[in-house]
Amino acid sequence: MAMKRLTRQRKAVLDVVQKARNHPDAAWIYQEVRKVVPSISLGTVYRTLEALVAEGQIIPLARAGEATRYDANPVPHHHLICERCGEIVDLEVELPDVLEAARAAYPNLTIRSAKIEFHGLCENCRDTLTS
Ligand SMILES: [Zn+2]
Ligand SMILES: [Zn+2]
Repeated sequence: MAMKRLTRQRKAVLDVVQKARNHPDAAWIYQEVRKVVPSISLGTVYRTLEALVAEGQIIPLARAGEATRYDANPVPHHHLICERCGEIVDLEVELPDVLEAARAAYPNLTIRSAKIEFHGLCENCRDTLTS
């Protein structure tokens, strides 16, 4: 029985993250999941998110001084972070392999990962500023 409940909660959490296009944080996910599974606790939401991250189903976007947000977009992509509202927008653009370039230039370092982040304005903020 406990197993079945776990599966249901897990599915509900994953559904919410997958349907959201706004890279939600745990608090927002909790609000949405409660509409489907009213008895779920915030602690369960956190644990479920951790498990989904460990399985590679969702990607955590950790940002200094802010709550971690979650991304269920399986296509490799980059992010534009809106300077005004903090919205995270998916950018599916092809970029040169900076990791390979850095590894080739610095063979005596171990370079594990690279992160490219774009900064600017989301569509909403851009419209607000220009209208
Ligand atoms: Zn914005
Ligand atoms: Zn994304």
